[in-house]
Amino acid sequence: MTDALSLRRLNAADADFSRHLDHLLSWESVSDDSVNQRVLEIIKTVRERGDAALVEYTQRFDGLQVTSMADLILPRERLEEALTRITPEQRQALETAADRVRSYHERQKQDSWTYTEADGTVLGQKVTPLDRAGLYVPGGKASYPSSVLMNAIPAKVAGVPEVVMVVPTPRGEINEMVLAAAAIAGVDRVFCIGGAQAVAALAYGTESVPPVDKIVGPGNIYVATAKRHVFGKVGIDMIAGPSEILVVCDGQTDPDWIAMDLFSQAEHDEDAQAILVSPDAEFLDRVAASIEKLLPTLEREAIARTSIQGRGALIQVADMAQAIEVANRIAPEHLELSVENPEQYLPLIRHAGAIFMGRYTAEALGDYCAGPNHVLPTSGTARFSSPLGVYDFQKRSSIIHCSAEGASELGKVASVLARGESLTAHARSAEYRIKN
Ligand code: NAD
Repeated sequence: MTDALSLRRLNAADADFSRHLDHLLSWESVSDDSVNQRVLEIIKTVRERGDAALVEYTQRFDGLQVTSMADLILPRERLEEALTRITPEQRQALETAADRVRSYHERQKQDSWTYTEADGTVLGQKVTPLDRAGLYVPGGKASYPSSVLMNAIPAKVAGVPEVVMVVPTPRGEINEMVLAAAAIAGVDRVFCIGGAQAVAALAYGTESVPPVDKIVGPGNIYVATAKRHVFGKVGIDMIAGPSEILVVCDGQTDPDWIAMDLFSQAEHDEDAQAILVSPDAEFLDRVAASIEKLLPTLEREAIARTSIQGRGALIQVADMAQAIEVANRIAPEHLELSVENPEQYLPLIRHAGAIFMGRYTAEALGDYCAGPNHVLPTSGTARFSSPLGVYDFQKRSSIIHCSAEGASELGKVASVLARGESLTAHARSAEYRIKN
C-alpha cells in the first residue's frame, strides 16, 4: 500500500505566499565536483587519444564489446533500413510529426537583407547556416525519437549541410525508432557513442568524428557538464533543467484532464515540476481528488509521485488577473491556459517557453507532433530565452559597402571618435578616405 499523497496547497492571499513560491521554484542543478572532475578527464583523454579513447569509454560505460571505431559508425543505409524495421503505424506517426515540425520551422527562417543610405553606402545583414551541427540524442535509460525530429529538422530547415548525430547504444541495444527518425529528419552521419566522450568528440573531432560548430540536444549530468565545458570552442543550445508544466484553469475543465496534464511532465523525472493555478478553491479540491485517483494507474507512478509531492503545488488565486501574474512570475517551460477564450489572456503573458491555448490543447501534443519545438527554456529562463529554432542554426554577418562619398562623410565621424580613444591608426585609416 502506498502512503496518502500530501499535495502542497498555496494561497496567493497569504502574507508569506511570495516566500513560499520562491522556495517552490528554487532549483539548482547538482554541481557535483566528482562529476566535474570525471568529465574534464574524459574530455582531455578524447582530445589526446581520439578514436581509441571513444572505443574504450564506450566499452566501459555502455558495456559494448567493440574493438574499433568502425563498429560504432552507422552508415546512412542503416538509417534507411530502420524505416523498414518499424511498424507502418510508427512510420506514419513519425512522418506526420516530421511534416508538422518542418512546416512550422520553415516559417522561422531568417533571410539576408540590405538597404542603401542617402550617401550611397549599402548596409545589410547576411544570414548563413552553420557548416556542421552535432546532435546529442540521449540513450542511457530511454530513447527519444521525438527529440531527434525536434533537434535535426530546424538544422536542416536552416540549411546546415551536415548534421552529425551521436547516440549511446547501451549493451548494443539500438532503438529502431530513433534511427528511423534520423532518416526522416535527414541526419547525415550517426555514431553510437554517448556521454561526455561523445560531446568531446563533437567539439574537438577525432580521426572518425568530424568537429562540429554547435552541439544541441538534451542529456544526463555527464552530457550537460561536458556541454558547459566545451562551450566557447563550439556553440551549445542550452543547459536544460527538469521539465515543468504550469496549468492555469478557470475551474471549468474536467479535473481528470488537468491531473493527467500535470502527470505528463511529472512522469519525466523526480525533479520535474507540475503546478496548477486556479481562482476556484473547490476545483482545486476536485483536481486533488483526481490526482489521488489516477496516480496509481500510471506506469511511472513512483517518479510522478515523487515529483508531484516534492515540487508540485496547487495554488489558489483571487482571480484570473492574479493567475496570469503568478504565471509570469514563474516563467514556466510549458504554460497551459485551460480557460474559456484564452486569446483574451495571451497579450498579458510575458514569460513562457510554450503557451498551450484552451482546454483541448494538451501539452503532450506539443511534445510530439503539433509543430513547435519541444526543446524549451526551463527554470525561469523563459524570461530571457526562447525555444530551440531555425535561428539557432543560422548566424548573421554584418555587411558594410561604402561609396566614396559615404567613406568621406563617415571618415570624419570615425576620426573624431578614434582620436577620442587615442587609437590613431584607426583615425588615420579613416582620414585617408576623407575627400578634400
Ligand atoms: P544519456 O545519453 O544522456 O547518458 C548516457 C551516457 O552517460 C552513457 O553513454 C555514458 O557515456 C554516460 N555515463 C553514464 N554513467 C556514467 C559514469 N558513471 N561516468 C561517466 N559517464 C557515464 O542518457 P540518460 O542517462 O538516459 O539521460 C537522458 C537525460 O536526458 C535524462 O535526464 C532525461 O530526462 C533528459 N531528457 C531531456 C529532454 C528534454 O527535452 N529536456 C528530452 C529527453 C531526455
